[in-house]
Amino acid sequence: MSRSYNIVSIPGDGIGPETNGAAVKVLEAVSKKYGFDPRITEYKAGGCAIDAYGVPLPGETLEAALESDAVLLGAVGGPRWDMIEAERRPEQAILGLRQGMHLYANLRPATLMKELGNVSPLKDPGNIDLLIVRELTGGIYFGKQGSYKSTEKLFDGTRKGTVAFDTESYSEAEIERIIRRGFEFAMKRNKKLTLVDKANVLCTSRLWRQIAKTLTEEYPDVALDFLYVDNCSMQLVSRPATFDVIVTSNMFGDILSDLAGQITGSVGLLPSASLGNPGMPGLFEPIHGSAPDIAGQNKANPIASILSVQLMLKLHLGEKDAADSILEAVRKTLADGARTPDIAVHGDGEDKGITLVTTEEMTDRIVANLE
Ligand code: NAD
Repeated sequence: MSRSYNIVSIPGDGIGPETNGAAVKVLEAVSKKYGFDPRITEYKAGGCAIDAYGVPLPGETLEAALESDAVLLGAVGGPRWDMIEAERRPEQAILGLRQGMHLYANLRPATLMKELGNVSPLKDPGNIDLLIVRELTGGIYFGKQGSYKSTEKLFDGTRKGTVAFDTESYSEAEIERIIRRGFEFAMKRNKKLTLVDKANVLCTSRLWRQIAKTLTEEYPDVALDFLYVDNCSMQLVSRPATFDVIVTSNMFGDILSDLAGQITGSVGLLPSASLGNPGMPGLFEPIHGSAPDIAGQNKANPIASILSVQLMLKLHLGEKDAADSILEAVRKTLADGARTPDIAVHGDGEDKGITLVTTEEMTDRIVANLE
């Protein structure tokens, strides 16, 4: 086999081993059909790494990730580790991987699959097919923060007490590289790019707008528009099908992608890709967490993890035919009526051709439908 990839698999905690296991099974099956070799090695991160090594992100896991072609991650965290101090909690593994691997571009596609029928909570969602390009390693989540005791008072004489602050800061270079990614994805899709910001209030947002306007000269085929984030959240509910690519800052992207996820069904359906500069390894993971409430019960929807493999093959490894095969197999499996509990719409049953399936059954059906 001439095409061979070095894939690091990090199952993590909760449902992570179940959904990541499903993703690995699909990757192995599709690779046999399309003639490439995914050399998969498993590493620990999150709560299970705290149990084994005392730290959420062991050095050997980050090293392996940096030397890989791509990382497939399940999910981390759970109530067992909730009492641990903030800097040693399982979720630090995700931040450590993003920072350590310099993954500044987070891609979250949100597509409403017609095979799922009326799974959207919206009355008339239309044909939702959008991509959120979120900046991932800058902005307010990484800016200067702290708290101090203030001696000042409010206008009515009340003492201010403790003051806490977070700082949003973005450099020209950080903004330019992520907006460029937005333009490039828009070129490959429907050539519409929406920059979401709060330029009526925030100085950083005004710099984002200025840079985006300058870049339009390099991408004359892309129609660029601007939306304030508050307006965008309304428009995502009222006219979601009119969006193509949204590019935005770390915090706005975090919030909007959950909204975009909900209007297309379940978090159990949504994959994500985190990328750095071309040629560097990428990280592929579902947007959901470790779902401790259903962990170990064979109930989790594996589709978000399986579609993360699809994104990895399509966007990162250049295995487009294998990626298309996975997407078609997922669609066919859903069209045939297979549903994990999270996407089984109340009232639909066998009379409508719907069958409730386990994580393993859903995975096996998808594997059987690979062409
Ligand atoms: P969650 O995404 O784990 O769960 C939210 C809800 O969605 C739960 O009801 C869960 O059962 C359901 N759900 C999630 N994934 C599902 C799937 N594949 N199939 C069916 N249902 C699914 O979010 P949470 O409950 O806020 O967090 C649980 C833990 O996960 C916490 O420790 C949190 O810190 C962690 N977390 C990790 C990540 C990550 O690893 N990237 C992301 C978010 C949360």
